[in-house]
Amino acid sequence: MKKEDCIFCRIANGEIPSDTVYEDDCFRVILDLNPANPGHALILPKEHFADITELAEPYLSRVLALAAKIGQAQMKALGCDGFNVVQNNGEAAGQTVRHFHVHVIPRKREETEKIVTWTPHESDPAQQKKIAEAIRAAL
Ligand code: AMP
Ligand code: ZN
Repeated sequence: MKKEDCIFCRIANGEIPSDTVYEDDCFRVILDLNPANPGHALILPKEHFADITELAEPYLSRVLALAAKIGQAQMKALGCDGFNVVQNNGEAAGQTVRHFHVHVIPRKREETEKIVTWTPHESDPAQQKKIAEAIRAAL
C-alpha cells in the first residue's frame, strides 16, 4: 500500500493532525478516535507495515517497551488500575485499519466486565496434542 493511501501513515507522519501523546524517530502514539475508555492510545509506527507479520526492526524490538511506558503513564495520569495491550491481525481478528498498531487501553477495577474477553472452552487432550504438533510443524 502507498503511504498516501493509508490513514495511519498520514497520521503517524504528521500529515493529518491527531491527539499525540508521544513521538520519537519510529513511532507516534495517539488517542483513539473512538476510545474503549478515556485515554485509549494507539501506537503507530511511522513506516507502513500491514500487520505484525510484516513488522521489522527496529520497530519489533521497541514496540512492547513503548506499550509498557504508555500504560504506566496512563496509570499515573488517569488513575487507572491496569491496562490492556491489544493488537489485532487480519479482518477475522477485528483489524479494521491495515497499518500495524497496538492498542493500550486504560482499565479501572470496577470496569472488569469491559475487559477484552473470550469464552473459555473445555479442551480435548488428544486434539490439543494434534494442534500443538501442527503448529510446531508450521514454524
Ligand atoms: P483495529 O480494529 O485494531 O484495526 O483498530 C483500529 C482503531 O483505530 C479503532 O479503535 C478506531 O477507533 C481507530 N481509528 C480509526 N481511525 C482513526 C483516526 N483517524 N484517528 C484515531 N483513531 C482512529
Ligand atoms: Zn500505513
